[in-house]
Amino acid sequence: MKIAIASGKGGTGKSTVAANLAYTIARSRDVVLVDCDVEEPNLHLFFPAPAVDVPVTTPVPEIDPDRCTLCGECGRFCRFGALAVVKDCVLTFPHLCHSCGGCTLVCPQGAIREVPRTIGRVACSRPLPRLVLVSGILNEGEVQAPAVIRAAKMFAEGHPLILYDASPGIACPVIETLEGSDFCLLVTESTPFGLHDLRLAVEVAETLGIPAGIVINRSDGEDAATVAFAQEHNLPILMTIPFSREIAAVQNRGGLIGRDLPGWEERFMDLFTGVSP
Ligand code: SF4
Ligand code: SF4
Repeated sequence: MKIAIASGKGGTGKSTVAANLAYTIARSRDVVLVDCDVEEPNLHLFFPAPAVDVPVTTPVPEIDPDRCTLCGECGRFCRFGALAVVKDCVLTFPHLCHSCGGCTLVCPQGAIREVPRTIGRVACSRPLPRLVLVSGILNEGEVQAPAVIRAAKMFAEGHPLILYDASPGIACPVIETLEGSDFCLLVTESTPFGLHDLRLAVEVAETLGIPAGIVINRSDGEDAATVAFAQEHNLPILMTIPFSREIAAVQNRGGLIGRDLPGWEERFMDLFTGVSP
């Protein structure tokens, strides 16, 4: 089973939920937690452990000047500004390339070949006997977050139980993360902004045809609007985490409430039971 943990906006505590859920599950069964928030991965902070790094590469064009006739086709084709045909050469801007392969196909001289370029890495560790952590890490300034997410997901592929921690928002990296998931946990806060972003996240899950449920984080008890929205969309509210100084203190020191506060391991196990078939 593949469970994605997502949120329409940042700062809802999505990664906290993912980390606590993974910790709780790993107390009794094997699980792989994949950090798909590749621009700001942070799950390793909850689970410090030595990691093995594997580079992630993507193909980018390399021009053969002996074959190139400077016809300009490749520059006209590239929508990302990664190629510029100037007076006496073709300039390439690999960090702008989205690896679509189109320039290689349109070149009439066969003057373009693809070469691998490192854009990030995947770090794998085993912080607990029954937990494997796979973190996708995009190099600074790179644009191909989905490629690193795909690579991180590939590492976990085939395991019976996988959790994906998505990046915040609803952009391409989130779609890439949610693809192939069996269930999506949407973490939200009961604020007007939280509800607005939850609405967007629900639309994404519905469009992808992924069943979803809601976790309300930092609840001050004023959850009526979120509850009404959930009922309207037939979405279960699977967990409510109250706003509490005790919980905040654990989280502020990088702790896990499922481990450090009594009763929370059971609650996260109930959450897992709620999404399992
Ligand atoms: S592979 Fe695609 S994005 Fe990259 S330079 Fe060629 S046309 Fe542009
Ligand atoms: S399409 Fe091929 S031949 Fe034409 S400018 Fe680009 S690399 Fe040169």
